[in-house]
Amino acid sequence: MRTSPTRFRRWWRAFAFAGLLLGSAVVASAQEAPRARALAFVSSEPSLVNAGSRHFKAYAAAGSPAAADLAGIVAAREAALGRLERFFRVRYGGVVTLVFFSNEEAKFRATGVRGFGWAGDGVMLEVYNASTKVDPFHELTHIVAGQLGHPPALFDEGAAMWCAQHFGGDALGLFGVPAGTTLDGLVRRNIDEGRYMPLAEVFRLSEIGSARSRAPVSYPEAGSFVGFLVARGGPAKLRRAFAGLKSSDDPRVIAMNEKTFTRIYRMDISDAERAWRRAIGRPLPAQGPRHG
Ligand SMILES: [Zn+2]
Repeated sequence: MRTSPTRFRRWWRAFAFAGLLLGSAVVASAQEAPRARALAFVSSEPSLVNAGSRHFKAYAAAGSPAAADLAGIVAAREAALGRLERFFRVRYGGVVTLVFFSNEEAKFRATGVRGFGWAGDGVMLEVYNASTKVDPFHELTHIVAGQLGHPPALFDEGAAMWCAQHFGGDALGLFGVPAGTTLDGLVRRNIDEGRYMPLAEVFRLSEIGSARSRAPVSYPEAGSFVGFLVARGGPAKLRRAFAGLKSSDDPRVIAMNEKTFTRIYRMDISDAERAWRRAIGRPLPAQGPRHG
């Protein structure tokens, strides 16, 4: 479906906004305080309704939209976890504490975390109401795939975005993007309208979400690229990438990551970028000087 320029600008702003807020929680060092506050909130509010399953303990305020759906939400999360465990071939042995809030303000008051979603070390915080529902796969992908290792954001966020689309069907709903927009489609649109981050740059990011990371551009690129990698090398190579690549800002680690990537996929990043761009129907311009 085509959107008018005005409508596009509107959802583009929403995308940028949501992307920055979601991403603000990605930095690992920032995880402990919200996690502790969330757990303290849960134990200090006996009025919260809860529902449990093998891997989830979910909480919501009595009478809230999530409270009404809590058993169904937990069952759906359990099914999502199972699918991700099979895809990544790992078992998650922990129990995720899942706390739902009716709006961003309530979430911020209780935990100090802004935005629609947050996840860190077995705790997930989500806004849940008629218009906002965090997709069940994105954060869960971080938790399950995190059992394999912590690769750079291109793979970590890319896998979360792609799994949300592949398993859940809607990777981008929360970002205010028109329904039915795919990761590849959003990258094509970005390229057509002059927004693109070269893959070598995305590869070097240790997080996606900050202004530096240009999240509205790098998020969909990462998701689309991981989709390309799965199509090319299957889940097994993606698992090897998770285990072998390390998220870091250290140039030496980044150089090691580039070598490891080339060994796994038998192509370097620039070859991979060219192949991916061809695959999504937006080939890179031919290299070298032009004559004539
Ligand atoms: Zn993420």
